[in-house]
Order: sequence, then C-alpha cells, then structure tokens
Amino acid sequence: MHGLYRLTMPATCQRIVLASRPRGTITPENFRLETIVQPAADSLLEGEVLVKNRYLSIDPYMRGRMSAAKSYAPAQQLDQTMVGETAGTVLASRFDGIRPGDQVVGRLGWTEMGVVPGDILRRVDADTIPLSNYLGAVGMPGVTAWYGINVILHAQPGQTLVVSAAAGAVGSVVGQLAKRKGCRVVGIAGGEQKCRYVVEQLGFDGCIDYRQSETLEALQVSLQAAVPDGVDLLFENVGSTIFDASLACLNPHAKIALCGMVAAYYGGAASLVNAGKLLTMRATLQGFIITEHPEIWPQALEELAELVGSGLLQCHETMTDGLASAPMALIGMLQGQNLGKQLIKLSD
Ligand code: NDP
Repeated sequence: MHGLYRLTMPATCQRIVLASRPRGTITPENFRLETIVQPAADSLLEGEVLVKNRYLSIDPYMRGRMSAAKSYAPAQQLDQTMVGETAGTVLASRFDGIRPGDQVVGRLGWTEMGVVPGDILRRVDADTIPLSNYLGAVGMPGVTAWYGINVILHAQPGQTLVVSAAAGAVGSVVGQLAKRKGCRVVGIAGGEQKCRYVVEQLGFDGCIDYRQSETLEALQVSLQAAVPDGVDLLFENVGSTIFDASLACLNPHAKIALCGMVAAYYGGAASLVNAGKLLTMRATLQGFIITEHPEIWPQALEELAELVGSGLLQCHETMTDGLASAPMALIGMLQGQNLGKQLIKLSD
C-alpha cells in the first residue's frame, strides 16, 4: 500500500541576471529572466531584512557595469542579479529600527524580492512624497544634481548655466535648482517635446534640440544664439559633440561639473575640437562620482525632499510595468526615450 504524500511547492519570485556582456549596443539577449525560490521570512539572520521591491531605477551607469572594462566600480558579474537602486516595502526584519511595513530604498537590483543587511537600507516617508520619487529627484539623481550645483559650480544669481540631457533625471533637477539660485538656464535635449517640457513645465529660459543640428558647427551656432553672453557654468551629462559645442561658448573662468558622458557609453564618442577653450578661458573642470561623497547626502536629501514635498521641484517619471520590461527600458533610455526619471513599477 502506498502512503499519501502532500508536496508543498516553495513560493517563487523572479529576477533578471546578466546573461552575457554586450558588444556595442545592448540587446535583450544580454539578460535572462529567472524564477527563483522566494526568500523566506523565517530564514532571516540577525541584522537582515526581507524586502519586496515596488520600483526599480534604470540608470545610464548600468551600461558601464555590463562591461568588464576597468572603471570606478567593479563590473556586474555574469549570471548574477543586475545591480540597481530599488524602493520597496519591508516584509520581515531582524534589524533594529526597521519594521515590517516600512518603506525603504536600497540596492537590491533587478529582483522582485531580496534579503539584505538592514544597515544598507534607507527608511523613507512615502506619505508626503511618492515612494518612486526617492529613486529620482529625492534620490541618487537628485543628489547628483545638488552636488554639482552647490559644491562644484557654486551657482550664483545672474550666471548663465547650460545643462545637457536637460529633460532627464539629473538634468531636469540641475536646471530647476539653478533657476532657484537665480541663474539663467539653457538646456540641451533631444527632441522638440523634451525642449518644450523643460521650458514650459520646468521654467528653463531656453533649450536647444540637438537633433536639429547635424554638425558641431550647426550646434555651436544654435547654442551661441541661446547664450549670447556666453556660458559661466556647465553641467555636462552627455559628452561628445554636445560637450564640444558648449566648450566653444565658455566665458573666462567658467566652471564645469563633468557628471556623465552618456554619448560615449556605446563607444565612438567624437574627439573634442574645442578642448583648447579650457585653457584660453582658464576654465575649471571637475569630474565627480556622487557615491564618493556620502557626507553631503543627508543635507542634499533633506533639501530635495522639502522642495519636492512642497511642489517647488517637479519630477516627471517614465514608468514601465513589470520586471520583464527592465531590459527594454534600459535600452530605450540610452536612446533617449525617457522623459525625466526612468523607472520600472513592480507592484503597488
Ligand atoms: P537621463 O534620465 O538623462 O537619461 C539619459 C539621457 O541621455 C537620455 O534620455 C538622452 O536624452 C541622453 N542621451 C543618451 N544617449 C545620448 C547620446 N548619444 N547623445 C546625446 N544624449 C544622449 O539619465 P540620468 O539623468 O540618470 O543621467 C544623466 C547623466 O548623468 C548620465 O551621463 C549619467 O551617467 C550621469 N550620472 C552621473 C553620476 C555621477 O555620480 N557622476 C550619477 C548619476 C548620473 P536626450 O533625448 O536628451 O538625448
């Protein structure tokens, strides 16, 4: 006689791993969606927290991590969960100060759920500010903008500031913070819709659609017309021809915050024709990586939260649904398909 066995299948969840390193352009085949056993609340060790992710952040730096080339951070490992900032709800906790139901921001990566040490999570107030904003204007991109404006550029009233990728997560905050400092702000962005957005919705003084200018010379002419008194401050997010055109417009003793070179993330960036302006204009250029400045995060986050909470800082989001949409969202963002912060929504 056979005994009766009741099989209990373990609960599962999904994650996306890096399946292969891209050669040039990223393709969906560089990623793999996997079903894994859901971490159990009763298996938590002392100090650990189980989080259900509600939003994933999609960021340009992810392209760099997918490559094995040496950079400021280690490469993403093959067959491991894709890196990335996340915002979610605590399901279980063995860490003092974090309780089930808390909303937290962390770096769990492209996964629906995960277990992490509690000390790397940041508890946030999602009653006054939507949780997703903590991955954008009140998160890493916002702090990046804040650092550039306050610490590198020291923006002053009456100065002219140019920012590239102006309608993106970082650029849109840069322009708004600079306007609040009394600067004249001109953006550079791809497409009429983005330019209209930063001028009409965010209050920039002007915006150049670089897609309308096929050559460096044409872009320079457009930019010079938009900044007839020259550029005092440059917040550079793109590099290549866009950076080159801005260099041509620098004023004496201009300051440059070199934040990103997204045009080069696929390789093939144009060399700089106007690099000599750095010398003749006696410019100061400073590159920075925002994660290397933890000391300024609390003040920056407090100020950004206050501005967003009181409606003084706008933060548009481009949201796609479901974990499986993450690869195409990253590919799309690197082609300029996002307006504001690119996010993935996993659950309510
Ligand atoms: P965005 O939201 O701005 O999205 C990326 C944007 O880059 C796209 O929307 C597109 O805008 C633009 N872009 C992409 N490819 C090109 C290209 N070939 N030429 C011109 N523009 C291009 O991203 P983020 O705001 O998150 O990041 C902006 C920059 O800041 C990036 O370079 C990123 O790496 C950098 N960064 C740096 C940090 C640091 O610590 N130094 C921290 C965070 C971000 P468009 O349609 O206008 O072309």
